Amino acid sequence: MLIHFTKEASREQKEALRKRLAVILSGARAKAVPGGLEISGFKLTDAADAVPLLENITGAGEIKLTQAESCPLACSSGRRLPAKPLDFRKNFILIAGPCAVEDEASYLASASALKAGGAHALRAAIFKPRSSPYAFQGVGFAGLKILAKAKKLTGLPLVTEATDTRQIEKLSAVCDVLQIGARNMRNYELLKEAGRSRMPVLLKRCMHATLKEWLLSAEYLLKYGTANLVLCERGDSVFSSDNPGLDFALMREARKVSGLPVLADPSHSTRDRALASALALKAARAGADGLLIEASLSPQTARVDGRQTLTTRTFAKLAASILCKQKR
Ligand code: PEP
Ligand code: MN
Repeated sequence: MLIHFTKEASREQKEALRKRLAVILSGARAKAVPGGLEISGFKLTDAADAVPLLENITGAGEIKLTQAESCPLACSSGRRLPAKPLDFRKNFILIAGPCAVEDEASYLASASALKAGGAHALRAAIFKPRSSPYAFQGVGFAGLKILAKAKKLTGLPLVTEATDTRQIEKLSAVCDVLQIGARNMRNYELLKEAGRSRMPVLLKRCMHATLKEWLLSAEYLLKYGTANLVLCERGDSVFSSDNPGLDFALMREARKVSGLPVLADPSHSTRDRALASALALKAARAGADGLLIEASLSPQTARVDGRQTLTTRTFAKLAASILCKQKR
């Protein structure tokens, strides 16, 4: 933690600040640096709480926390995740499925084919956050029955997006992982409620969000109760394919500082199934822990994101090539 003094700070005010620091942050040691103090020796989890208290002390100008002080839970690397529902310790994890659940027949047929093709879990979205209010918004709770059937049929865990706090309880009764989508990465009430549910969570990075913003959202989940957290890099582009890419450097940095598994979603930044396939391979080579990828039996008839959705046959080939490389 760095505390910069205001220009007007008097010697007495600086001394008072040192004294208050010792009270507010137990174990804190202050070292003078040009223009302020560098503080160390306290518990990381106490840092963020101390900021408003220290800010009120005359003489303390700007207070800067390091990344680990801002996100102490998200930055405690080496977190050991439980093996269920997804075992990241042994496997490169493939979560596949259509963008949205549309009807029972097509979803169940896709689910079986994806399992046969190597999927470890199913995309299972029944609520869709859409840019247009006129676009298909998902089948809603009516889809829970379809999801339960898909789980029974395949035995695969279900990853489903929650777009509202009021969905969490019902989704948790049937699904295995709650997805917080890119647009909701900054929906702090949703993050709190997802944390309180204690469900495993997959947290996507919002378009153009920095690593720190992403980790702060992860921090919300961890602070409110999530014990099993997976991150997912989905890229920055939304409407065009001018920049069909994922930020691999940021993905690797997120893995390093958080110790959490980080998936790549090659579907939403490419908007084209051939590019999505190619990007999936690149992501595996770039160090992703797995993929969240759109794939279904008949993408050409999908109501949402069909053009970027792989066929189940292409998915199976992709899975075979990635999983067999990982084993070697
Ligand atoms: C999705 O994965 O279904 C989705 C909506 O993606 P994103 O939140 O990354 O746009
Ligand atoms: Mn989609």
